[in-house]
Amino acid sequence: MPNMPHRTIHLFRKGLRLHDNPTLLAALESSEVVYPVYILDRKFLMSAMNMGTLRWHFLLQSLEDLQRNLTKLGSCLLVIQGEYESVLQDHVKMWNITQVTLDAEIEPFYKEMERTIQVLGGEMGFDVLSLMGHTLYDIRRILDMNGGTPPLTYKRFLHILSVLGDPDMPVRNLTAEDFQRCKPPPELCLAEDYRVPLPEDLEIPRESQSPWRGGETEGLQRLEQHLKNQGWIANFTKPRTIPNSLLPSTTGLSPYFSLGCLSVRRFFYRLSNIYAQSKNHSLPPVSLQGQLLWREFFYTVASATPNFTRMAGNPICLQINWYQDAERLYKWRTAQTGFPWIDAIMTQLHQEGWIHHLARHAVACFLTRGDLWISWEEGMKVFEEMLLDADYSINAGNWMWLSASAFFHQYTRIFCPVRFGKRTDPEGQYIRKYLPVLMNFPSKYIYEPWTAPEEAQKQAGCIIGQDYPLPMVNHKEASDRNLQLMKQVREEQYGTAQLTRDDMDDPMEMGLKHELSEENPKKGKRARNREQT
Ligand code: FAD
Repeated sequence: MPNMPHRTIHLFRKGLRLHDNPTLLAALESSEVVYPVYILDRKFLMSAMNMGTLRWHFLLQSLEDLQRNLTKLGSCLLVIQGEYESVLQDHVKMWNITQVTLDAEIEPFYKEMERTIQVLGGEMGFDVLSLMGHTLYDIRRILDMNGGTPPLTYKRFLHILSVLGDPDMPVRNLTAEDFQRCKPPPELCLAEDYRVPLPEDLEIPRESQSPWRGGETEGLQRLEQHLKNQGWIANFTKPRTIPNSLLPSTTGLSPYFSLGCLSVRRFFYRLSNIYAQSKNHSLPPVSLQGQLLWREFFYTVASATPNFTRMAGNPICLQINWYQDAERLYKWRTAQTGFPWIDAIMTQLHQEGWIHHLARHAVACFLTRGDLWISWEEGMKVFEEMLLDADYSINAGNWMWLSASAFFHQYTRIFCPVRFGKRTDPEGQYIRKYLPVLMNFPSKYIYEPWTAPEEAQKQAGCIIGQDYPLPMVNHKEASDRNLQLMKQVREEQYGTAQLTRDDMDDPMEMGLKHELSEENPKKGKRARNREQT
């Protein structure tokens, strides 16, 4: 039956958008009816990605938005709760489905799901169509071009892309006409069984505290707002953005990319247009397109590296004998380290689900190679639960980076939990916002309140060790000890360390390092390294 139009279920997983959605477009072009479905399989979602409350809110908001946007085009979203395999089986039978379309994803749990659906298709007689929509390139092409393995350094990665040329252009926007022929029956759209659940249906609090609201509409609005600021876009230089600014100093678009509410290709090409009109613009790795390419880089490496989110069995990751210390991990996780800069960041993470990239640097370095010598996997799990942008590839990739387990090699540069934040926020406004207990501390002591005289603590209404914890470690001693441990590990595992090493210096750090060396011309190299921020 080569030309018979299909009866299709389009299965949303990520890709919660109608712009630049090649798989949905292909579904509409090949079908007499398309059922837009989201299977809310709580057990699967929790086991695959350990979603915390803020992430659930963001997902539900994104589904509501998709529902509204589909309704505007004459269709609707059908949300079905239950185990995905049996839900799909039942609905394929019930609706006489001949095709299931879905975005291809690279995470092992999503690949496994697609394999299961393929098998089901073979048994039940439906076709499966999956296209890549979540990355700039079809990642498989990058791997092929690199001889079947992932390029392990950003430099090599950029070289492969230069051979491949620009990514495909975004596909056209979907219109009411596209849906005209393919609407699901109206009674289904109205059925209570298929509505987007409310937070209380999932037994989570009704309201989210996060200033990020999920959905394509909000994502596109935020994107357009940034694009108006052409000078900012053209000159964007990542290391120079401010981690403790009270409003995001970077785009804050990551939650929308993470669930696919926004297309990275749309963003990439809008950036290209702005660059084309600018006399000068920043370049990868520090430009905004450079950030999207970091994303693509981690996706590529993750797609073909066994056990990418673990240390054991992960061929690119140093095997380190991290401490197991539940009490210390708990203090880090719950913002009770006694270092206000670290605790303020962890509080923002809990309350809002998003923190700046360099703030992530600070807390990740503190947990791992900087102070506590606790495994990056533990930190990654906390981020996975809390971050609205939590992402299999990017999260693990960056945690390996920050813990110097892979990708990053300037391990002698350890972030100081006192000086790092001071550089861009000497008055500690960020700390005052997220740790109100320290609100009245004089700026002089706000990053190290344990050094304030008793009188100053009394005046600030906060006694350290009583109202706010004493620092959980002596940073100098801990970081000196960890540095020696790391040096030893790297000598012993030289071969693994070299796998992800660029022959140029770590590219994201270059601008920052230059700046610091100018600030401290008289200091020796080692002292400068230790004072990175
Ligand atoms: P912008 O600077 O505006 O960049 C635009 C987009 O580029 C981002 O939205 C993101 O999609 C991509 N991007 C930016 N920086 C990176 C990077 N270093 N690696 C890969 N992609 C990047 N980002 C996630 O999206 N999900 C995660 O789970 C995640 N976990 C992280 C864990 C650690 C320990 C660290 C240090 C970083 C992590 N990042 C993660 C990367 C980065 O911090 C965020 O992508 C960025 O801060 C999001 O803010 P933004 O959208 O304003 O970024």
